[in-house]
Amino acid sequence: MLIKTGIPTPEDLEKVYPSEERMLKGPVAIIECFQKIPCNPCTEACKQGAILPMKDINDIPEMDFEKCNGCGVCISRCPGLAIFIVDRSYSEKEAIVRIPYEFVPLPEVGQKVVGLNRAGEELGTFEVKKVQSGGKKNMTYTVWLAVPQELCMEVRNIRLGGVTHGE
Ligand code: SF4
Ligand code: SF4
Repeated sequence: MLIKTGIPTPEDLEKVYPSEERMLKGPVAIIECFQKIPCNPCTEACKQGAILPMKDINDIPEMDFEKCNGCGVCISRCPGLAIFIVDRSYSEKEAIVRIPYEFVPLPEVGQKVVGLNRAGEELGTFEVKKVQSGGKKNMTYTVWLAVPQELCMEVRNIRLGGVTHGE
């Protein structure tokens, strides 16, 4: 189904999720990269060794979640925009989802933006907490979004502007 729609199934996602226990400890990278393609900058970006070395450049990345400190360096190094950081320790009701973003204009801190799921469907409006550059010559920014805990594994994109659903 993933090949046809580009949208991972719950079974695909289950394979790349950390344990509930690890998620509650603090920020952790979740790599939603499911297709065998010749690509490996993520493995080189991670200085913690949390993204395991690939035997073959076409391998799908694998994580050692216990080594991941949630630094987020890998997000802007992934050309597929497939890496997210989820921090469920942010507050009792909200989690932070860090999302790669390459459009202009960039959102501003404090702005409410529309959160979208993997299929591009609107999930509500959520506050931007931080906008982080990927560094010089890197056009991939990271947007930190505060979302309700129950949506932290659903929100994977943003759109500036208001909700259109139901209008
Ligand atoms: S968030 Fe940091 S430690 Fe975790 S996988 Fe990415 S680069 Fe490695
Ligand atoms: S850099 Fe991104 S697209 Fe490339 S293998 Fe790693 S996660 Fe997948």
